[in-house]
Amino acid sequence: LGKCSSCETPDEWLAGNTEIQVADRDQGQTENNIAQEVSNRWSTWPNGVVKYTIHSSLTLEDTSEILKAFDEYHKKTCIRFEPWQEGDTDFVSIEVDENVCGFANVCKIGGPQVVMFGKDCRNMKTMIHQLGHALCLGHEHQRPDRDSYLNFSSCSNNPKKIRSFRRPMGLYDYNSQMHAQCNSCKGGFPSREGVNICGPDATPGLSVLDSDNINYIYNCQGCHRHRWIPAVALLNEDFVNMHNFGYETQEGNPINTCRALYGSTILSGMYNHSQNTCYIADGDAAFEIEEKFVEVLTFPGGLLGEDCSEYKLVNRRTAPLNSLIRAGNIANDVMYDWTSYPSYSSLSVGNGERVKSIGKWWVLNERHVANTANFAVEKMGTRSSEFEVLSCSFNEMCMIKKIFDSENYVHENY
Ligand SMILES: [Zn+2]
Repeated sequence: LGKCSSCETPDEWLAGNTEIQVADRDQGQTENNIAQEVSNRWSTWPNGVVKYTIHSSLTLEDTSEILKAFDEYHKKTCIRFEPWQEGDTDFVSIEVDENVCGFANVCKIGGPQVVMFGKDCRNMKTMIHQLGHALCLGHEHQRPDRDSYLNFSSCSNNPKKIRSFRRPMGLYDYNSQMHAQCNSCKGGFPSREGVNICGPDATPGLSVLDSDNINYIYNCQGCHRHRWIPAVALLNEDFVNMHNFGYETQEGNPINTCRALYGSTILSGMYNHSQNTCYIADGDAAFEIEEKFVEVLTFPGGLLGEDCSEYKLVNRRTAPLNSLIRAGNIANDVMYDWTSYPSYSSLSVGNGERVKSIGKWWVLNERHVANTANFAVEKMGTRSSEFEVLSCSFNEMCMIKKIFDSENYVHENY
């Protein structure tokens, strides 16, 4: 990936301004210029469906990398890439430009728009990044608050700060595929302890927070409808949408799921309502993470949605990994491609009683699972192999009932 740290998407495009992008595209086409309806910034793709063409100059290997990139979006979000058909006016043309690593129009600009990759960057990661732009994502290292996470003091010029379309005040994500490689003046020097890799170096595909951003922007439903809400931005409705799955403290207070940015990791723990903190375990130790580094898990529409998608705790030994809710990743080269999953357990404590706790469970490469999960209990960290995890799947009884009800409705009409 050596030279792929440079994304040549211009700053003016990254601000999501469609007018400038349409003008850039149509430049030089003074004759035969098709008048385009220019809309405002941050235009998204209706229902998350993106029509595409693949230029005939691309090789089979290029196409294979593109399909792998599509697959990441199809697995982790409600976005659907579909081949262009006669009559589709808005579409992405995927092309190669050997003078660049990659660039792309940002958001839906109306009419044809480009996603480019080239040089030695004709790979899946670059394609995921550029498709992210087409879907309206900006650069993580250009976030307005990035100076709290990156140091540019040794750089003569550094990337501008640009507001992009994303979850407001969400956790900073060194693992984002939209983050440039760090330890350079392009992607900055991480200022948090333990962070030594960023973006494509840290994550093989979409990071957990990339997926969350897209599912937020496109208001994805079904098993993509859970939302992690920043603790500093919680509204009354978010408290209604939290669920404790029967988990309570010994005093009878509900225990809700949170995640926190802790060192180079984003991991899950227990939300502390009174302090607005996230109580997490790190090995034998336990920490309260302050609210600006905390998000709380909510389920708009309830645990059983109108579409019959259902969130529930399940046995971690039998649940398919791809049905489980994930918390975050690690930006550390010793722990490449680890993902944390919220885990739920009832743990015995000194006096023989059992207390409920929500902790983290690590999975490597979306495949190799840790034998134990790590929980914060009584100001200490502890490990247990007996725990449940949070899954989402479609409830069959609910769906059968829905079909039955709709058939009855049809009969009544005749
Ligand atoms: Zn970019």
